Amino acid sequence: MGKVLAFGLGRAKISGDCGKIGAVAPAAAGYDRLMSTTSTSAVGDPSTLEPHGTRAAAPQGGASPNLCVFTFGPEDTEGDGTMQALLGCKGANLAEMARIGLPVPPGFTITTEVCAHYYAHGRTFPRELAGQVNQGVAFIERLMSLHFGDTWNLPLLFSVRSGARASMPGMMDTILNLGLNDHTVLALARKTDNERFAWDCYRRFVQMYGDVVMGVRKRGGEDHKPFEQVITALKRERYGRPELDDTKLATADLQELVRRFQRLIRERAGDSFPQDPGQQLWGAIGAVFGSWMNDRAIVYRREHNLPSEWGTAVNVQAMVYGNTGDHSGSGVAFTRDPATGAKSFYGEFLANAQGEDVVAGVRTPEPVAGLSRRMPEAFAELEQIRLTLERHFRDMQDFEFTIQDGKVFLLQTRSAKRTGLAAVRSAVEMENEGLIDWKTAVCRVPAEQLDQLLAPVFDPAAVRAARSIARGRPAGPGAASGRLYLNAERAAAAAARGEPVILVRSETSPEDLRGMIAARGVLTAKGGVSSHAALVARQMGKVCVCGAAGLAIDYAARTVTAAGTAYPEGAFISVDGTTGEVYAGELPTAASEVVRVLVERTLAARESPACQNFQRLMDWCSSASELLVRANADTPAQAAQAIAFGATGIGLARTEHMFFEGDRLDAMREMILADDPAARKAALGKLLPYQQADFAGIFRALQGRPATIRLLDPPLDEFLPRGAEQQRALAAKLGVSPKKIARRVEELHEFNPMLGFRGCRLGIANREVSEMQVRAVFEAAADVIKHDRIRVAPEIMIPLVGFKQELDLQVELVRRVAAEVTAARRVAIEFLVGTMIEIPRAALTADELARTAEFFSFGTNDLTQTCLGLSRDDSGLILAPYFDAEILARNPFASIDQTGVGQLMEIAVAKGRKTRPDLKIGICGEHGGDPDSVRFCHRLGLTYVSCSPWRVPVARLAAAQAALEAEAEAAAG
Ligand code: PEP
Ligand code: MG
Repeated sequence: MGKVLAFGLGRAKISGDCGKIGAVAPAAAGYDRLMSTTSTSAVGDPSTLEPHGTRAAAPQGGASPNLCVFTFGPEDTEGDGTMQALLGCKGANLAEMARIGLPVPPGFTITTEVCAHYYAHGRTFPRELAGQVNQGVAFIERLMSLHFGDTWNLPLLFSVRSGARASMPGMMDTILNLGLNDHTVLALARKTDNERFAWDCYRRFVQMYGDVVMGVRKRGGEDHKPFEQVITALKRERYGRPELDDTKLATADLQELVRRFQRLIRERAGDSFPQDPGQQLWGAIGAVFGSWMNDRAIVYRREHNLPSEWGTAVNVQAMVYGNTGDHSGSGVAFTRDPATGAKSFYGEFLANAQGEDVVAGVRTPEPVAGLSRRMPEAFAELEQIRLTLERHFRDMQDFEFTIQDGKVFLLQTRSAKRTGLAAVRSAVEMENEGLIDWKTAVCRVPAEQLDQLLAPVFDPAAVRAARSIARGRPAGPGAASGRLYLNAERAAAAAARGEPVILVRSETSPEDLRGMIAARGVLTAKGGVSSHAALVARQMGKVCVCGAAGLAIDYAARTVTAAGTAYPEGAFISVDGTTGEVYAGELPTAASEVVRVLVERTLAARESPACQNFQRLMDWCSSASELLVRANADTPAQAAQAIAFGATGIGLARTEHMFFEGDRLDAMREMILADDPAARKAALGKLLPYQQADFAGIFRALQGRPATIRLLDPPLDEFLPRGAEQQRALAAKLGVSPKKIARRVEELHEFNPMLGFRGCRLGIANREVSEMQVRAVFEAAADVIKHDRIRVAPEIMIPLVGFKQELDLQVELVRRVAAEVTAARRVAIEFLVGTMIEIPRAALTADELARTAEFFSFGTNDLTQTCLGLSRDDSGLILAPYFDAEILARNPFASIDQTGVGQLMEIAVAKGRKTRPDLKIGICGEHGGDPDSVRFCHRLGLTYVSCSPWRVPVARLAAAQAALEAEAEAAAG
């Protein structure tokens, strides 16, 4: 055991008899500091321990775990790759890599259970932890033949890194070179005979420790991090060049930086940088656990629906050094291209640098291919490692490596975050290569990401005419135009005002997350495709260009200068994340390749590998799915588009949408405002031919597929002219007095129209409206069957039903009109009549409704509104504080509230099928395109989901994944 360690950590072992290590007394300096990591003040960094502005729930549970620490290394690896829940993704994969003989520096992982305990017990550690950490340190010391805190020989230094079950790039904290102090730095310099390297490590460590553990960070309103400001000032002072590369700083500069950093820490944190390595280690462990609840980690989890109960693990690992000179360096590489999915070795490398330099994006790295010239042996080894990783993990990996004096070490591997394009391509190609089977390939593509293949690109003609002002690395494909903003807060505020936003930063840091979420695109002047900016943007499907070196950003003046022109904040720019090109102004967009092949038919499938991959995936989905996917479509064009994306029919045609166009709206208003039956009939007579033509167009587009057509549903006030001006114009058109219109509008006014005169209540009170609509459907069906010789399958749906008698009255009307039309036109028309289930009473009495209804369709927009008693139109304001307080994890209008609304659905399915076992049941609320809701519908045994045409591919993939997951669960017993 090393000298300082024996003094600092050794006593923890003796005294581990108390749940709160910090309560141990008498304490050496290390213990005092350990205690202080469990309170908020003594390390002078309340922000790392008590993140401001959040009342989010911390991980719960926290019974004292017996096994707190798992070691990994060339021998005695205790964990493995399956243990992600306990060891986090990083810890489990480090263990797995060590097991398969890859060169991983030894270390140990403190489990996520310790994190749960930490939060459940007032940010203190379980009593078992100190002894196990000591053993972990001894394990590393033995394998490295070095001692932690050694002031005479080469000292053992640690990296201390977070690692949750799902990787959260850059959202939590990391500390490198831990164990350095004013004495060990001298030993490091002497033993490596490399003074510059030693002081470079030390200044990095003080900087990171000051930031992460002691909370010396950018304050509100500051554009630069305080330590970076100190560096920039020194460069300006000594070299007159604030942009000087860090590698050009001399030893004396680094020594001066360490002094200035320590002074900055004292001034800002009110406490000194700790010299005791034991104290440093515990401070770092506490800070990394604390970072699970920092603001940006909470925002990231919310964005990606990760539960806060998971907690993070902490990985303590022997340092290896990429900054010992020109034969060293650090890099991040991908086994395939994460932007396109191409099977090429892709990644970046920075010579003479530590890993943080690459991911933080402060220096722009060189492509990893450049290593083949610089260090051919290391490159060949990396190529081999790349193949081993893919073969072993059978997925695209994103791995971190360090080369220390020509020797390669692996510091992390994980499934690579990739674009939708890359996800589809790599899944299909890996299946071709025999690396995975087709079912795995289907499950590999996050359903939500499929949208990216349908997103528009810049119009090629506009690109030819546009002025390119800069070029960077294409890091997140797609096309985005918007107003540029130079900081996250202003970007988010502009987006809240409805502006399209491009976030432009010198480099992004994780604090920029809110701005990135708000932006359509992200553009940075520095950093590469593996910077945090790029990783996070890619995963969110944001257009991203990194390292556009031609941009000069002046935060103070709020301008970006490129190609000789200064663009102020708010100016339009356009960013092409597929090519890396940046243009001045706003460029129009054009359809993506998949849309051009399938919908527009302006590109042949054989010319689009992206579309071929997409189709292959969709074919697999059809083989796997039990749920069918229909579309909500109101026009022939929408219906055709939905079919091109694989919809099996229309699940909801909202007939009221057909009244919103041109002259129809006037006829509709005339009908609503009519004060006698004759006037109403005349207005309906004008509407009938419009509706008939619309339905005929839809039937033709569907080519025999079913169409669920819903009778008029919305509150009538949605159609009425509200302003005096509009009322005057309508009065003139209809030849009546404005007063009369104003009076009628007043009569129709409802306090709560969504719970008022709408749905089947309209059809019951105004039977002639329903009659007109039903007649239009059947006349259209008769026309298409007779003239086009196409099969037609209308399914007439009655909205907002709560009582069987309501349904009976409307169904009787439908059957009567259908009989009249078929008799008059001498044509047989197959049809069904069913109901929406969108108010709780309908769900609860579904057994009664199913006696009349031949199908159900869940209107989960209204069912959510009525079950939660929460207005769907006004929920925005209410939901924001509910998310902050974690009362709700997701918007219940976007993803089904499975415990509440879900129960009503479950009851309706069970009761409905009790009466009518073969009852066809679908869903047509917005939730039909949400992957989690689709999975839920699969579990409920619905027949189909229906969503907007653009969401059809997403729903198809989610339906297939739901079926495959269920199959795997059943197989596992
Ligand atoms: C619903 O309520 O879920 C539904 C599909 O109907 P609408 O949104 O038209 O009210
Ligand atoms: Mg509804």
